[in-house]
Amino acid sequence: MSILYEQKAAEGLRQLGLETAFTHLDSSCQQAAAEHWSYSHFLGYLLEGELRERHRRGVELNLHFARLPCQKRLADFDFSCQPSLDRRLIDELATGRFLHEGRNVVLLGPPGVGKTHLAIALGLQILEQGHRVYFSSVVELARKLSVAMTQNRLGSALKTYFAPKVMILDEVGYLPLDRLQASLLFQVICQRYEKHLPIILTSNKAFGDWGQIFADDAVMASAALDRLLHRSTVINIRGDSYRLKEKRQAGSQDIPKKPDNPPTS
Ligand code: ADP
Ligand code: MG
Repeated sequence: MSILYEQKAAEGLRQLGLETAFTHLDSSCQQAAAEHWSYSHFLGYLLEGELRERHRRGVELNLHFARLPCQKRLADFDFSCQPSLDRRLIDELATGRFLHEGRNVVLLGPPGVGKTHLAIALGLQILEQGHRVYFSSVVELARKLSVAMTQNRLGSALKTYFAPKVMILDEVGYLPLDRLQASLLFQVICQRYEKHLPIILTSNKAFGDWGQIFADDAVMASAALDRLLHRSTVINIRGDSYRLKEKRQAGSQDIPKKPDNPPTS
C-alpha cells in the first residue's frame, strides 16, 4: 500500500507538471526522515523549491522577451553623481507600485546623465517581480512599425507594444521622425494610455520642444504629452554627463562641464 502511494507521489508530481518537486522528491523524503520534519514542513519545503524554480524560469523568459540592450542595476548607479535626483523616489518606483496606477515614468535630461541606465534598472526590477517588460528606442519602434505597415501587418506589429505590462521607450527626441513615424508613435502612446499600461520614457528634449519630435505637428505633440503626463512621475536630471565626468577624471581637460540646454519640465 505504502509503496503504491510512494509511486503515486512521484507520478502525480510529474503529471501535475511539478518537475522540480519530482526531481527532489527522493532526497527531500530522506532529509525529512533524517531530520524528523512534520508533514507540513516537508510539503512546504518541496513546494518552495518548485515555486523558486518557476519564478527563476519566468524571470529568464521575461528577460529574453524584454530585449534590454544591456543589464544595468540600481545598485550600480552612483546617486552621489546626480544630486538633483531624489533617491527615495527612484526606490519607490523600484517597488513597482506605479504599475498598479498605470503611471508613466518620464526621465528627462541631457545626454549621459543616466536616463537609460535608470530606465533599464527599473525594468529589471519589474520583470523580476514577474511582469513583462519591453525595451525599444523610439527610432527602432518607428522603423519596425513603418515596415510592418508597408507589409500590411501593422495590427500584429502593434501588439508587440501593447502586450507587455511596461514599455521602455528610449531616446525620444534624439532623431526626428517623419509624419508617418510620428503618428505610429502617437498610436502606441494613446493605446497604452487607454489600457493603463505604463511607459518608462527617456528624452533629452524639454516638453516645449516636443513639436519637433512629432514632425512639427504641435497638435499631435500636445495630445501625446497630455496622455503621457496625465498619470506620470516626471524626473528631471540636471547633472553632468557621467561619461564625460569619467573622461574628465581620466585626465581630459578640454571637456565642457555642463551640457547646453538641459531640459526642464
Ligand atoms: P543617458 O541615457 O542619460 O544618455 P546613460 O544611462 O546611457 O545616459 O549613461 C551613460 C553611461 O554612464 C552608461 O554606461 C551608464 O551606466 C553610466 N552612468 C550614467 N550615470 C551613472 C551614475 N550616476 N552611476 C553609474 N553609472 C552611470
Ligand atoms: Mg540614453
